[in-house]
Amino acid sequence: MVFAYYNRLTAAQKRIYRKSDEITAVPLPEEQELTPLVSELERSLISEDRQKSEDICRSVIDQIVARLSVPRLRVSVLAVRPSASWGELHGLYEPAEGRASAKITLWMRTAKHRRVVAFRSFFRTLLHELCHHLDYELFLLAESFHTEGFYKRESSLFHQLWGKNK
Ligand SMILES: [Zn+2]
Repeated sequence: MVFAYYNRLTAAQKRIYRKSDEITAVPLPEEQELTPLVSELERSLISEDRQKSEDICRSVIDQIVARLSVPRLRVSVLAVRPSASWGELHGLYEPAEGRASAKITLWMRTAKHRRVVAFRSFFRTLLHELCHHLDYELFLLAESFHTEGFYKRESSLFHQLWGKNK
């Protein structure tokens, strides 16, 4: 299955898309060592501690990139999601540029009611943005598309790090 926008891609982009679609998992070595950290992240989000949530997100990401031997990332957790007519932004990935390393930004409160987002959605967003990083740095794709394979990789990380506990 391909998403509708596939037909609008150039031939070169279609090749990248198909390559992306074929990779369906991201096996993490010793992933069970990370689950206590993810539990701690859940607690810090529930207690609405932005600084602590940011610190733990950084540790989780540091440990994952170390296991996969890809360049490190900066991670920033902010308060209220930016919103406009298109909806609200959950997370953002900015690729490395020049000497600045790549960066993930996440928001912990919904735009509408300023409530802390559900942990599952917060953690999935973190892994989603990480998957963009892995497309460039691990799979060496020239572009990072939202393919079915992309979402399977996101789920693969989620289940290794969290899904098994729930
Ligand atoms: Zn995305």
